[in-house]
Amino acid sequence: MVATPLGNLDDITLRALEVLRAADLIACEDTRHTRHLLERHGIRAPLLALHEHNENQAADKLIALLADGKRVALVSDAGTPGISDPGARAVAAVRAAGHKVVPLPGPSAAIAALSAAGLPDARFLFAGFLPTKATARRSEIERLGAVPAALVFYEAPHRIEETVADLAAVLEPQRTLVVARELTKLFEQIASMPLADGPAWFAADDNRRRGEFVLIVSGPPPRQGLDAETERVLAALLAELPVKQAAKLAATITGAAKNELYQRALELKA
Ligand code: SAM
Repeated sequence: MVATPLGNLDDITLRALEVLRAADLIACEDTRHTRHLLERHGIRAPLLALHEHNENQAADKLIALLADGKRVALVSDAGTPGISDPGARAVAAVRAAGHKVVPLPGPSAAIAALSAAGLPDARFLFAGFLPTKATARRSEIERLGAVPAALVFYEAPHRIEETVADLAAVLEPQRTLVVARELTKLFEQIASMPLADGPAWFAADDNRRRGEFVLIVSGPPPRQGLDAETERVLAALLAELPVKQAAKLAATITGAAKNELYQRALELKA
């Protein structure tokens, strides 16, 4: 499992080059993309397409080659294979067939973004891509919002504004949003702001919506606790309604933050 660059073709380890050079076959997502990287480093090796839609069949081919004593490397288009990328099914199949799987660490957009985010959180949760449907996305954000850790998301440019709008609508506005755009590339940009300012930041400049993104949201602020009246309203609603509806109605009635009410409702229910 060989990590490859996120953009800057020099971001490849000496060991990765050595392994790719020695490989009898390189399994990759997009053969044209990987050939470009290999040519940059003067490497010629047969390539085999292994992507989301053929991972199982491709894994069978890899296993046959490994059984024949061949050396096989697996890469994805960018970063670390298996991280929001194909690879996990092939790894499982190859290991189940009795072969060794060796990770070659290197670039991953999530880790690169975290290293330059400057957030105080000691922990992070890698959430990858959020659901594309608005309702599912919002409930996933609500669920993740309770986790006591910074949240790390991948997002595509055509959905970046919707996702940031949902993060800002659902999570506490004082959380910090870090946008890491085009990491290791010409227009690399890393910006931090209060989450509430995220939608305006993206709306202010078309260029900010271009390229590849990692979004990081700092962990939840310390809970203040609800006042007695809010607790009473929430408990009364919770006796009659499901958690989500009770929290939503309690937010409308009392003006307290929906996310906090939702967390408290979950506690009360438990
Ligand atoms: N396996 C990769 C890794 O280890 O980071 C992730 C692959 S995933 C299909 C692609 C997503 O990763 C993009 O949509 C973006 O969210 C993030 N990404 C990849 N390259 C990036 C870059 N140069 N700058 C910011 N985000 C990037």
